Amino acid sequence: MVSSRTQIVGLIGWPVEHSLSPAMHNAAFERLSLDWLYVPLPVRPGSVQDAVRGLGALGLRGANVTVPHKQTAMRSADTLSSAAQALGAVNTLVIEYSPHGIRVHGHNTDIDGVLATLRRENIELSRRQRAIVVGAGGAARAIVYALLTESEFEITLLNRTLDRAVGLVTDLSDICTGAARLSAAPLTPESLISATQDAELLINATAVGMWPHADGSIWPEAAAMPTHLTIFDLVYNPLETRLLQQARQSGARAIDGLNMLIMQGARSFELWTGEPAPVDAMRSACAGALERMKGEER
Ligand code: NAP
Repeated sequence: MVSSRTQIVGLIGWPVEHSLSPAMHNAAFERLSLDWLYVPLPVRPGSVQDAVRGLGALGLRGANVTVPHKQTAMRSADTLSSAAQALGAVNTLVIEYSPHGIRVHGHNTDIDGVLATLRRENIELSRRQRAIVVGAGGAARAIVYALLTESEFEITLLNRTLDRAVGLVTDLSDICTGAARLSAAPLTPESLISATQDAELLINATAVGMWPHADGSIWPEAAAMPTHLTIFDLVYNPLETRLLQQARQSGARAIDGLNMLIMQGARSFELWTGEPAPVDAMRSACAGALERMKGEER
């Protein structure tokens, strides 16, 4: 039951209706019997700074931040984690109350999500290897940062808009150490097929294949997919994307985007509550919410 003692966190975004985060976090609070509540907070573009300041004024404990507000919300935080600084975006805000006032701390837990997913899938991060990252938005930036800070990956970024990929390479090439390499090229069916011949990991960090355009795939339908590849698709709605179907049909390994969503959420949960996140409860809540969405689409 919600009472005056209930601790509240929320999701700042526009729109926020299709998010899995309320189901995921409320299931986690329930599993640990915490008197906490997670609520969607639709915030219009132009009102983000007021909304972030309002969190503290209303006594909320924090928030997640999603598109299109991740960069704007960053500018309203009093402190930033090194990951948030490096990525130029926050996805988690923690509000601290003290006799000296209210402070907003900005974090980016997408990196935790990427690394926890790769470790869970036994992708050996200490070994030098080649990865192809498709996309150059916020998710691709988190992937590249995670791979380069953890290991000496050789990464080729392929993006529809080449300038955006080149910008990302310029921003992040400073964190390449040792044999790590980061380069950019335009995304075409030919460049993708050619780049993956001697790569081990292919990561889709674009919105291609996402509901309601679930027939889409970055991989050309007529081309065979190399069986040695591991394919990690960040899209999680639908869970089994066309790209992952193609991977399974070709005998390549397929990793879906749900685990990353859950692991970044688990880190946010821990930052707010100080408790280890009940990951299994979060996973079943997300799977249930996705099933319900699928039912509503029919
Ligand atoms: P974003 O900043 O808007 O970037 C979108 C990217 O997708 C850009 O590189 C864009 O290319 C590319 N793109 C969009 N439509 C395309 C098309 N038809 N053909 C080729 N490329 C296309 O978005 P984001 O935040 O990086 O998110 C990207 C995806 O990752 C989304 O599907 C999101 O749901 C998913 N994601 C998942 C998680 C997770 O936890 N699993 C976390 C974050 C994001 P241009 O630069 O050419 O426009």
